[in-house]
Amino acid sequence: MRMVTSIPAMQRLAKKWQRAGTRIGLVPTMGYLHEGHLSLVKRARQLVGTQGKVVVSVYVNPTQFGPKEDFSRYPRDLNRDLILCRDAGADLVFAPHDGEMYPGKAAGLNSTYVVEEKLARGMEGAARPTHFRGVTTVVAKLFNIALPDVAVFGQKDFQQAAVLKRMTGDLNFPLKIVIAPTLREPDGLAMSSRNKYLDPEQRTQAVILYHALLAVSVAVKKKPLSAARLKADLKEFLSAAPLARLDYVELFDSETLEPVKQVKPGTHMALAVFFGKTRLIDNGRL
Ligand code: AMP
Repeated sequence: MRMVTSIPAMQRLAKKWQRAGTRIGLVPTMGYLHEGHLSLVKRARQLVGTQGKVVVSVYVNPTQFGPKEDFSRYPRDLNRDLILCRDAGADLVFAPHDGEMYPGKAAGLNSTYVVEEKLARGMEGAARPTHFRGVTTVVAKLFNIALPDVAVFGQKDFQQAAVLKRMTGDLNFPLKIVIAPTLREPDGLAMSSRNKYLDPEQRTQAVILYHALLAVSVAVKKKPLSAARLKADLKEFLSAAPLARLDYVELFDSETLEPVKQVKPGTHMALAVFFGKTRLIDNGRL
């Protein structure tokens, strides 16, 4: 497995592969990899086949973090990530430095961004106003750098996947977006690099996100319920985890991401919950 840090070197290689008719699968990540990420690597392998090339990008993208967020303390361990990627069957890790990805930024010379204006508005977009602009911009850059035929994203970040799918269609990037299921810890907590921040007590209580999804799913299978009523009940439900502070919960249509009034099986639910400074997200189809 190779590691590449330079954009021109990655582009040269990707063009060479393209010319040879080799399919390229890209898995964008911020590193500190866990089984959830590695399931995307394996999915990318299935999609491009044994003759294809699987590229994992490992880059903690500063433009998707707000000024008060955890960019500087976000966990990083590139050597460990390289071993995990190699063992999961990746062909190449693209791990650029900030100066490579945003050479003019410090001097105020980076002024081009990609913005999705509809699906990115609510939920994560409302809670983290510059987040999706950073995500769409960096992923558009990665598409232009790694020239993938297919890119794999996790349902764990449901809204992000929807925004990126829309961006890909709207801007005619010649590739397919594949969305893979959320991998969970044995107790149901969605795997996340940020779980590392949790102290033991927070970790125990963090499973409340998953339990909230299950509880609502069970409730709406009996009869449709009003979203307002469910949101109020959820606040009550979360009090079982005293360390949890709800940021938002939304019940919405999985295609349009528009909030619904009546919640029934098939409606999508997403929530963000703080444990101390750590912000966890989860979602699922009810
Ligand atoms: P991140 O490194 O957190 O930016 O995530 C990189 C990719 O991995 C994104 O497409 C995420 O949705 C995906 N991902 C993160 N956590 C999980 C998980 N628990 N299961 C599946 N995919 C995940």
